[in-house]
Amino acid sequence: MGTQPQTDPEIVSVALWGGVRPRLPFPPRGALDHLVLHHTAYRSSRIGGTSVEAQSRHMRELERWHLERGFSAIGYHFVISPTGRIFRGRPLDRMGAHVQGHNRGTVGICLMGDFERERPTVAALAALAGVRTRLIPGATGLPLVGHREHSGQATLCPGRFLMEYLAETNEGRLGAALESSVGLGSSVRERRSSARSRPRTSARSTPESSPSRSDSAG
Ligand SMILES: [Zn+2]
Repeated sequence: MGTQPQTDPEIVSVALWGGVRPRLPFPPRGALDHLVLHHTAYRSSRIGGTSVEAQSRHMRELERWHLERGFSAIGYHFVISPTGRIFRGRPLDRMGAHVQGHNRGTVGICLMGDFERERPTVAALAALAGVRTRLIPGATGLPLVGHREHSGQATLCPGRFLMEYLAETNEGRLGAALESSVGLGSSVRERRSSARSRPRTSARSTPESSPSRSDSAG
């Protein structure tokens, strides 16, 4: 179809970055409802370089923080570095530990960085798009929702610059939807608000998040 040749994103397996074997079996994720966007909330300058070694070290650091919070392994399904490397976390069909009360039916995608204070790189956003369209079966058309948009979350995650990105992405999708549905313009606002309030999964804790430790990993 004359598409541009696409460079495959570099995907780093758990074994390659040195993630732990889970202390407990992960529960099943359940039917996919939506994707959740996070940031690590640590400045990208903390990563220590652009090599796969440096970024893998940072992955192990992130995982250590999650282990210290009582998770059985890193809580996200994907972590994306500023250079666009994609690090795998939990298996896609297993439940993550990334947004308390909404882990069932969601996939957690985290960008390395503090997007309250820095802007995401083009490479990271391209990798994010690739994760959504190519690495998550059944995700086509499902919303990507910021962590802090979920009920009950006291967090700035994924940071204002990623929230801006989400708003633009959603506007783009709305624009496309409008073009293909002349006459339905009046329902756009409703559609938008229903997309935003979509995370409505009943609050229930996972074994690894109880009793009161937040499983919103940042
Ligand atoms: Zn988060």
